[in-house]
Amino acid sequence: MEHGGCHYCGRTDTFIFAYTGTIIDPSHAEDPELASEHPDIDELCADCINSGNVRKQGATLREIKPLINQFAADKEAATELFHRFPNLPFFQGDTWAICCGDFTEYVGEHPPTKGAYSEYEQWQPQDEVMSRLNLEDFYPLDRLPVMNIMALFHCLHCTRKYWAFQYSGLGWPGPIAGE
Ligand SMILES: [Zn+2]
Ligand SMILES: [Zn+2]
Repeated sequence: MEHGGCHYCGRTDTFIFAYTGTIIDPSHAEDPELASEHPDIDELCADCINSGNVRKQGATLREIKPLINQFAADKEAATELFHRFPNLPFFQGDTWAICCGDFTEYVGEHPPTKGAYSEYEQWQPQDEVMSRLNLEDFYPLDRLPVMNIMALFHCLHCTRKYWAFQYSGLGWPGPIAGE
């Protein structure tokens, strides 16, 4: 991805994450005047995302809020933590498994080494797209990884693992033949 560096500190020598949000305090920005006139940002380095000085855009928050309200042990702390997550390239909007009252760790689209899709359970609440497509027909989930559109999460407190299916009209090859 081409980028001009972190939209807050201006660094170009580190990995830049997608992050759609707003700068709270422009005074420490590389260009404080620009940051105060245009507080909206799209790309940030990890330090700036973790600084607590940026906020996710309202639309993203509205999507995740119901999950926080339902599953998080400390709603305020969870919301604060969510502001420190980079955007993930999810097709079906933002979701993030919450287990044991806390956000889980996003591990990517494939199980980490030695892992298998069968170790994962579906993240609730059931995605509306999922149910519409009757994806249960494609269990076991090992029949799905060719699509590379799973979002996998590991609980940091217990052994549970979750998957959220991220359906894409472009990525969906139709029912898998055979078996
Ligand atoms: Zn930065
Ligand atoms: Zn757990």
